[in-house]
Amino acid sequence: MQNIGILALQGDFDKHRQAVEKLGQKAVLVKDVEKLSDCDRLIIPGGESTTFLHLVEKLQLRQGLIDFIEKKPVFGTCAGLILLSKSAEKLPFPPLGVIDIIAKRNAYGRQVDSFVDDIRLNLNGRESVFEGVFIRAPKIKDFGKKVNALAWHNNDVVMAESGKILVAAFHPELTDDLSIHQYFIEK
Ligand code: GLN
Repeated sequence: MQNIGILALQGDFDKHRQAVEKLGQKAVLVKDVEKLSDCDRLIIPGGESTTFLHLVEKLQLRQGLIDFIEKKPVFGTCAGLILLSKSAEKLPFPPLGVIDIIAKRNAYGRQVDSFVDDIRLNLNGRESVFEGVFIRAPKIKDFGKKVNALAWHNNDVVMAESGKILVAAFHPELTDDLSIHQYFIEK
């Protein structure tokens, strides 16, 4: 059993906790750097990236997070993708800049434009359809050569990985399908 950390400063962390526990792993809610040392992996959930970044600065988590991500796998969903990206507009502080992605925040519109639609997933060479829940979701506007696309909505890449870092623009924790969490846990 692994200790899967879930950044629990704000946002949608409890649904990730449930997904992790359904997969038989231990969920560790992380609110400070000390807790990170108990974790084998870390999930950064959706929420509001501006609020996340204010809290990361206030609680002085930035360096601790970067150090953790250098060593261990991390999965960012929605606002978590924004936090991990190289750049995104209108943020109060720079994102962590650990994956070579330029994110466009709120790229599908406002809360009322949130939607559920099928996405095409390709994990370990196996194609499947996954229910993508998009809530004020970002788009991956551009990504570098080391970033591999893993899922598409129409022609947009909506999930990608680079080394130990996995990002999704949608919310896999809001569906019953655990295949993406499973993929992360085995990554
Ligand atoms: N729009 C939010 C942001 O920019 C992200 C929304 C989400 O995580 N569901 O941070």
